[in-house]
Amino acid sequence: ANELPSEAQLTPVMRQYFAAKQQHPDCLMFCRIGDFYELFYEDAIVASRELQLTLTARDREKKQPMCGVPYHAAENYIHRLLRKGYRIALCEQMEDPKTTKTIVRREVTRVLTPGTAVDPGLAAGESCWLASLVALKGGLVGLSVIDLSTGEFRATEFSGPAAWAQAVDEIGRIRPVEMIYANAGLLGAQARLDGAAEETGGLDAIRTKTPVDDWVLTAEHALPLLRSHFRVHSLDGLGLGGHEAAAIAAGGLVHYLKATKQGALEHIEGVRYYERSGNLELDAVSVRNLELVEPLFSGESSQTTLFYTMDCCCTPMGKRLLRATLLRPAVEVVEIEARLESVAEAAGDLRRREAIRRSMDGVLDLERLLGRVAMDSAGPREVMALAGTLGCLPALRRAVGDMTAARWQELYAALDPLEDLHTMIVAAIVDEPPISFADGGVIRSGVNAELDELRELSKSGRQALVAIEERERARTGIGSLKVRFNSVFGYYLEITKANARSVPGDYERKQTLVNAERFTTPELKDYEQKILTAQERSGEIERRLFSELRRQLLDSAGRMRETARRVAEIDLLASFAQLAALRGWVRPQIDTTSVLEFIHARHPVVERRMEESGAGRFVPNSLYLDAADPGPAVLLMTGPNMGGKSTYLRMAALLVVMAQCGSFVPAERMRLGLVDRIFTRIGASDNVARGRSTFMVEMTETAAILNTATAKSLVLLDEMGRGTATYDGLSLAWATVEHLHERIGARTLFATHYHELTLLADRLARLKNVRVTVKETNGGIVFLHTVETGAANKSYGIEVARLAGLPQAVIGRAREVLRIHEKAEVQQIEQDKRGRRSEAEASGALQLTMFTPLSQRIVDRIDEAQIDSLTPLEALNLLAELKREL
Ligand code: ADP
Repeated sequence: ANELPSEAQLTPVMRQYFAAKQQHPDCLMFCRIGDFYELFYEDAIVASRELQLTLTARDREKKQPMCGVPYHAAENYIHRLLRKGYRIALCEQMEDPKTTKTIVRREVTRVLTPGTAVDPGLAAGESCWLASLVALKGGLVGLSVIDLSTGEFRATEFSGPAAWAQAVDEIGRIRPVEMIYANAGLLGAQARLDGAAEETGGLDAIRTKTPVDDWVLTAEHALPLLRSHFRVHSLDGLGLGGHEAAAIAAGGLVHYLKATKQGALEHIEGVRYYERSGNLELDAVSVRNLELVEPLFSGESSQTTLFYTMDCCCTPMGKRLLRATLLRPAVEVVEIEARLESVAEAAGDLRRREAIRRSMDGVLDLERLLGRVAMDSAGPREVMALAGTLGCLPALRRAVGDMTAARWQELYAALDPLEDLHTMIVAAIVDEPPISFADGGVIRSGVNAELDELRELSKSGRQALVAIEERERARTGIGSLKVRFNSVFGYYLEITKANARSVPGDYERKQTLVNAERFTTPELKDYEQKILTAQERSGEIERRLFSELRRQLLDSAGRMRETARRVAEIDLLASFAQLAALRGWVRPQIDTTSVLEFIHARHPVVERRMEESGAGRFVPNSLYLDAADPGPAVLLMTGPNMGGKSTYLRMAALLVVMAQCGSFVPAERMRLGLVDRIFTRIGASDNVARGRSTFMVEMTETAAILNTATAKSLVLLDEMGRGTATYDGLSLAWATVEHLHERIGARTLFATHYHELTLLADRLARLKNVRVTVKETNGGIVFLHTVETGAANKSYGIEVARLAGLPQAVIGRAREVLRIHEKAEVQQIEQDKRGRRSEAEASGALQLTMFTPLSQRIVDRIDEAQIDSLTPLEALNLLAELKREL
């Protein structure tokens, strides 16, 4: 509909626009024209739809749609578009319109994408990850992520048959907002890893997936680029030696940042190689199921997360570290003990703990401020904020120095208080600088002699104007005469129409308004010239000094980032101590045995939510598991729905995560033989929404557990086998428990509604039955939420359904049906006893009442029927009867 005009018809601006658009066809082009960013053609239509802007046209025939946003308000509009997944190119004026005679030169100065433009709405504890993923021929998968807001840059790689699945899983944990990939590489990986192609869960969650040309993510292109960016001769210098896939992924990110012109990247001073196995491994499924950092269902309140419950950090760096630590708890006794020791000291000493936390009160987001300085988006206020933060460091360091635990002393020694940088900023910039340079007054007087002189000049110039105003009032006798300024006419004398007769002859008329006249004089012109030149010149000097200061700060970017990391760690340990002291948590006892024991433990999140809503008290529970003989290694939990089984399972996992993070735990006592991985198969999963059946998801997750769990792992299985027919589900659950017990020997909590499974306790030496208790009263059942030894003897399903408000008629009928069932089951068992020996029994295995009596009755009826002597009508009647029984 919108025909594009021919080249000859184009105005110069539009010619620039099309040139820019040709270079960045996948972007919405924001073209700066005066005080607006304008969008044209399709871009204009998209933007007007997404942002509810009025669509106008450049031409009378309305064939060139356009819309615009004011320059100063653009950021908000831009981020709204980015959040919807669009890419945006900023086409800026490269010259000052005032100084050019011809058309202003325009160029694309930056491409903004969801992963490269830091959203101002980003919460302090969150990161904005941009990822790149590459799969090499040999089956190696490289993954790299960068957060431009803080400069954190990491890379890792995966090998072996599960490489692809592991990479996808890692991405699911990190949850990048944008990922780049080369089509060839990824398709190759999926094709090779047949069957694993399904495993794209983590990838599906990424909002923006940006394909790049295949050559970008190759060794030939990415490796030299990475080396030259960091000015090293070999990858060894970056710690990436021998990790080519990781290095290619990292190099691909550098390419992308350069291609999208993300400004100076000085604050990214290195890329860190990391390996997942150095930590307690939590796969994406468990991270989600346990609600470590995000609620199970997106959109729900985050108050159900462990992160929310444990976050009492003072600084944004601390919050980010807490989030990262919860996702990657430690696995080394030495490391965990060092943290616990420092937490213990601070927890036990209110005064010294407060001294540390107080001194972080004024600490802002050092990493992000630094990021803004590096990307040149920091104004005078941001730099002053940076100074404010630096100013807090010496006191913080002293407070940490007052502690004696080894980790505190290490942090004290390593914390660079950056006093020189603080002095440098404070010496250059005034205490309360203006937002922008427009009005001047950013740089302190005394810093630059020329600047001081120019300021003096414009000040005396302005004083002279005041004097002129007074003098001219006296001379003309016009009391309302004023000397004024505006940006179009400069300085002028304003006289109301009523006084027009008294205007002296030496005044030159400049402008006539409805009820005033404006004049100038040679003297006034002279001062105007002086003042404006002085202001312009001093503006230039201020800008130059500021950018020198910025350069110097960037030279110390590495030191600042190092300090930011230490502050984050101090904050985290102090906040663990704060939680321990405030909430009465205890220090877990850590060792390398295979025991997991806690006495009177509470679920931190549920307990806090109950406290806050006044919903009664959390009932503490204890647990003892030991993977070594005599066990028990497997706890089989039964009991009614709503009895507290899931809560108990999750509590066990959360306490392990907390302890291995170095935090105290909500229990009277806890003993933990370190866990290498936590596996969970709990409840519903997001995957169901993506069209895979519940059962398929459940089995995929179970398969992953049985294939990878070790004797050091903690396995949680909740209600396994629900999604299929009873016998299938029961048999699978049965075999799974056996496998975990016999082959893997992992500490396992298995909650089930199959009562039949409790019989396993007779056969498996290290399996123990436990149950959640209920009290039966006249009015129904009451959940006691205590866990005790033994198998549940009744399922109480109907009781729970009644509590849920099922109609009385349905409840009554269900009771009836249940009674029939139970009676039939008894008959069945009697029958079995009378002699019908099943194969299973003959082979010595345990007899299962696998067939429900109901279906057995149907089988019997068919068995009894004499097909030969049935009339067709009788056969139909029998069929109808059987069908009614179903
Ligand atoms: P199940 O898995 O057996 O169906 P849940 O673990 O989901 O039961 O718990 C059901 C409800 O009981 C939840 O709302 C939970 O908050 C509450 N609950 C569970 N354990 C406890 C406990 N130890 N003390 C108090 N309330 C509990």
